[in-house]
Amino acid sequence: MALVAEDDRLMSDQHTVHCDCGAVEVTMLGQPRVHGYCHCEDCRELLQVPYHSVLAWEGDKVGFSSGEADTVEFKHPEKQMTRVFCKHCGEVLYNTNKMGWKLVSQLLFKKCHGDELPAGFEPTGHFFYARRVIDIGDNLPKK
Ligand SMILES: [Zn+2]
Ligand SMILES: [Zn+2]
Repeated sequence: MALVAEDDRLMSDQHTVHCDCGAVEVTMLGQPRVHGYCHCEDCRELLQVPYHSVLAWEGDKVGFSSGEADTVEFKHPEKQMTRVFCKHCGEVLYNTNKMGWKLVSQLLFKKCHGDELPAGFEPTGHFFYARRVIDIGDNLPKK
């Protein structure tokens, strides 16, 4: 009986996202370790965004549940960062940082979950805010 309960708990602690065309699905285990907004230059350059809305897990918590062969991994020529996208629709599933963490966009997550983030996934703050290119007027902590 204990095993069944454990399985149920693990099942409910899994989340998935998929790319726009549906060829690729990624599964994340457990709660993200970091959930917030990153204003660093690296995220901006890698993803061509003014800041990144991050849900970050350690690398071994995120994997493909389908379509891995349909993905392309772009490795940054100088930085230890990658961005992994679907070769059909071009959507980025996640990117990696130099610690090997996998960062899923809050925007992608919300798109796949009825525009909502589950409890424990809400943004907790702005990181590297001093390096920003745009000011943010919300009340979240800025560090
Ligand atoms: Zn796709
Ligand atoms: Zn960043």
